[in-house]
Amino acid sequence: MRLLEQFFGVIAPNTCIFCDQEGSLLCKWCIDDALPYQTSRCYLCNALTKDYKSCPSCRHKTQVKHVYIRSEYTSYAKELVHRMKFKYSIEAVKIIASELVQTLPISDRELLITNVPTVTSHQRSRGIDHTKKIAQEMSRLSSRKYVETLVRTDQARQVGSSRKDRLTQLNRVFRVKNTDIFKGVDIILVDDIMTTGATIESATSTLKFAGAKSVSATVFSRAK
Ligand SMILES: [Zn+2]
Ligand SMILES: [Zn+2]
Repeated sequence: MRLLEQFFGVIAPNTCIFCDQEGSLLCKWCIDDALPYQTSRCYLCNALTKDYKSCPSCRHKTQVKHVYIRSEYTSYAKELVHRMKFKYSIEAVKIIASELVQTLPISDRELLITNVPTVTSHQRSRGIDHTKKIAQEMSRLSSRKYVETLVRTDQARQVGSSRKDRLTQLNRVFRVKNTDIFKGVDIILVDDIMTTGATIESATSTLKFAGAKSVSATVFSRAK
């Protein structure tokens, strides 16, 4: 894929998805217009909050400490994710990673970066995991450590009859690895698009059950 990307980079320079100028996939001065900042809200009920926390009435429903969402769900946010996922654009990965790094609290240098895996280990042999690429780039940009902590199991998610059944099945979506590294550590989970947040919750409860001290998430955009 990388060779192909380089090949296309030589013969077809990127044009900005926002202003159409040649140069990069999204010019620095177009970023804020193309990707308007998402204000701090409770991700469960959308109430305005501080520091991207859940609101007091939703707090008991979530284990995720902060859910940072970088951008409103604009057509440009969608386009960047599309370029990354389906056109294997390394430049899209770099832009998304650089924007996500900026959502993290500057003082919190010890946060351990990990990703919500998008593909099962079986699928990975045939393709790339783009959230892993984003997380690795974030690690490089922010000098925070990256560790792979979650593996998506091949088991299909099924809806059971009771809430307890459903929760048990959700928790089987992931298994953990490298527990010795993340035990007692504050973790930041990286994902590209969030919809209901069920995946982030599932990943969080799996990591906390395995010994993580706290889990927050940073997501590029939230699909409505
Ligand atoms: Zn531009
Ligand atoms: Zn709420």
